[in-house]
Amino acid sequence: MASEILEILRKHVSYRRSCLNLQASENRLSDNALQAMGNDMYARYSHVTDSGENSYGGSEFSDRVLSEAQRIVASLYDAEYAEVRPIGGHIAAETVLLSILPKGGSFLYIGPESGGYPGYDQPYLPDMLGYRSYRIPYDDKNQAIDLEGLSTALERNRPDLIVLGQSAFVRPYDLRGVSQIASDMHVPIVYDGSHVMGLIAGGEFQPDALEYCAALYGSTHKSFFGPQGGIILTNDRDLYNEIHRNTIWYTMDNYHPSRVAALAIAADEMKRHGKDYAKALAKNSKSLASGLYELGWEVRFPPWFSYSHQVLLSGEFFSSRKITPVQFSQRMESNRIIVDRDSRIGLSEATRMGVSDMSKVASLMDRALQGVKVVQEVSDLVSGLSMKFGD
Ligand SMILES: *Cc1c(COP(=O)(O)O)cnc(C)c1O
Repeated sequence: MASEILEILRKHVSYRRSCLNLQASENRLSDNALQAMGNDMYARYSHVTDSGENSYGGSEFSDRVLSEAQRIVASLYDAEYAEVRPIGGHIAAETVLLSILPKGGSFLYIGPESGGYPGYDQPYLPDMLGYRSYRIPYDDKNQAIDLEGLSTALERNRPDLIVLGQSAFVRPYDLRGVSQIASDMHVPIVYDGSHVMGLIAGGEFQPDALEYCAALYGSTHKSFFGPQGGIILTNDRDLYNEIHRNTIWYTMDNYHPSRVAALAIAADEMKRHGKDYAKALAKNSKSLASGLYELGWEVRFPPWFSYSHQVLLSGEFFSSRKITPVQFSQRMESNRIIVDRDSRIGLSEATRMGVSDMSKVASLMDRALQGVKVVQEVSDLVSGLSMKFGD
C-alpha cells in the first residue's frame, strides 16, 4: 500500500511541476520550508496551559520554533502580536469571531455574490457559533464598499463587528472611509486577508489594514507563500489574549508544529523577498489581464483590471463562448494550465517562480481556449523555471 501511495505522490509531484499553476488560492513552498514540513516535529504536541505548565514533555525545540515564528510573523507585518497556530484561514476567522463577538452577537460581511467568503454565510460559521451575519452593501461594478449603504446597514442591523475581506477581489478598500462610519457607531473592523496576506506583507495592497482594523488575519498559503495554515495579527493586547485563549480546546487542539516551522521559514523569505515579490505579482496580474483583454477576453474592470494577485473573468466571457467555468478550467487543464472553477486567474505561484512574460502566458491561454494544443510550450516554459522570490 505504501508503495502505491508513494507512487501516486510521485506522479502528482511530477504532474504539478509540469503545469503552469494559475490558481489564486495556491502557491509554492521553498525547498527549505518543504523540508521543515517533513520532519519529526510533524508528530509532536506542545500545549502550554493557562497556568503556564506544558501538558507535554520534549517540547523544548518546538516551543523555540513557535516563539521564533511569532516573532518573525509579527515583525513582518509590523504588528505587536501574532497568533500563528490556527491551522487554516477558516480557523483563524473562527478564532477572531469567537474572540470579539458576544454570545448571540452579529456581524456584517461582504456576500459571496460579490466575491465574499461563503464561510461567513448564515448556515456556516454564524449558525455553528450562534451568530447572525448580514451583508455589507457592495458596489460590485467598482469593487468598492457602498459607504452610504454601510451606514444604513449599521443603523438597521446594529452589528457587533464588521468583517472585511473577500475571496475574489482585486482592489483594496477605502478603509479610512469605512473606519469613520464604523467608529461613529463604535463597531470594530477586522480584515480577513486570506487571499492577500502576501501582498500585504510586501506592502503592495491595503498597507493600512492594521491601522484601521482590530485584527488582520488569514491563510498563509495563497498570495503568502507559506505552508497551508492561518495567522492572526493585532496591536491590541486584550484582544490578543482572547485570541490566544480561543485557540487550543476551542477551535482546535494540536497546531501542527512542523507547519509552524515551515511558516517561520516562509516568513523569513517574505521579509527578504516580499517587497519585490509583491510588486512583481501586482504587475503580472495587471499585464496578464490587459494581454487577455487585448485578445478579446472579457476581463473585469478595464482599464485598471487588478491591484491584487487575481484577474477576474466576467460572466460574459463564459456566456458569449457558451462555455462554463468548469469547461474552461478543464480545457486549460488539458494543456497543463491550472485555473479554478470560480472565474479567477491567480498569478502568485507563477510570479514566485519568476514567470514575467505575461504576453506569452496570455497567448498560451488564448490558444488553449481555441482548442490549439499548447502542452509542449507550457512544459517548456515551466521546466526552465527556478524559484525567483525565495530560497
Ligand atoms: C480561503 C479563504 C478562507 C479559508 O482559508 P483556509 O486557509 O482554506 O482555511 C477564509 N477567508 C477567505 C476570505 C478566504 O479566501
